[in-house]
Amino acid sequence: MDRSDKRKVIIKRCLHDPHRISIISALRAQRPSLYESSECPFCPGREFMTPRASLVLVRSGNELKFSNELSAGVISDWLVRVFPNKYPALINRPEVRPGERGTYSTYGYHEVLVECRAHDESTYLSDRVNVYYALLTLRERFRQIMMDEYIEYSIAIKNSGAGVGASVPHPHIQLFGLTFTPPEVVGEVGAFEEAVECPLCRLMGLRDLIVYSSNYFVLAAAPAPRTPFEMFLVPKRHELCFTNVSNEELEDLAEVLRLALIAVRSYLRVDYNLWLHSAPKGVSRYHWHIEILPATARWGGFEKGTGVYLTTTFPEDATSELRGFINELVS
Ligand SMILES: [Zn+2]
Ligand SMILES: [Zn+2]
Ligand SMILES: [Zn+2]
Repeated sequence: MDRSDKRKVIIKRCLHDPHRISIISALRAQRPSLYESSECPFCPGREFMTPRASLVLVRSGNELKFSNELSAGVISDWLVRVFPNKYPALINRPEVRPGERGTYSTYGYHEVLVECRAHDESTYLSDRVNVYYALLTLRERFRQIMMDEYIEYSIAIKNSGAGVGASVPHPHIQLFGLTFTPPEVVGEVGAFEEAVECPLCRLMGLRDLIVYSSNYFVLAAAPAPRTPFEMFLVPKRHELCFTNVSNEELEDLAEVLRLALIAVRSYLRVDYNLWLHSAPKGVSRYHWHIEILPATARWGGFEKGTGVYLTTTFPEDATSELRGFINELVS
């Protein structure tokens, strides 16, 4: 990215709806769709096609360790690889930093985390170790980004499928670091602050919505689904931030997440988006979680114009269908 790039990204707030923010990045306009390409830039051996890695997970003997390509050359034996998005929505340069954290600015991080060396998602999901390695690396980079004093909020998102925003089929997550808390999360924080009992701890007590329960996590159907079969993945331990999750919990999460995504791919047979919501800096009441939104329906004008979602599957029915599928998978 060169200096003139900072003029190609701006951030705007809607005049009549303060909860609507737009980042306009001309840099993203050049983004190609690589679904039909045989030259996947995320596959091993094509590291030169992406910016230098900011974080890499490698095996060293029997140990796992983190490295990066910032001072060294290309690391080819990576297990998981993180690098700045080639077509960024945000600019990681000191001259665009805001005066203080908490203000809207185009400063931030927009990175890609390639979850595994395998190109296809079914191979990735065939072994929980792959998911564990990706989550270990995500936690590490999440921590690093949150250490930046100008960053107030970090979010990890995954678009899986050309129909839901992905431009590369190789399993990957996008990681954003923002100088402000996005409106969706401001809304959630308000709900946590107002509630007498933590809303997600309460959700875990609603037996009719529990799809699967492991040692440390609960997979639940969303009580007010935006699309049929929307799911929440919630840690049983009430904890503000994803960055405080332990290795043992991450291993457990890897398996539950894997089961949930196999259900989306093999049972529902649709693309999906997911995102990880962790507490913004300075917030004391929150419970981090993952939301999984299968592309089981398209939103129309009513949903977009009202924020009210018309769906067709009762959450209790979604629960029993998904529960049946996952129980069979693990038996
Ligand atoms: Zn690939
Ligand atoms: Zn809680
Ligand atoms: Zn959330």
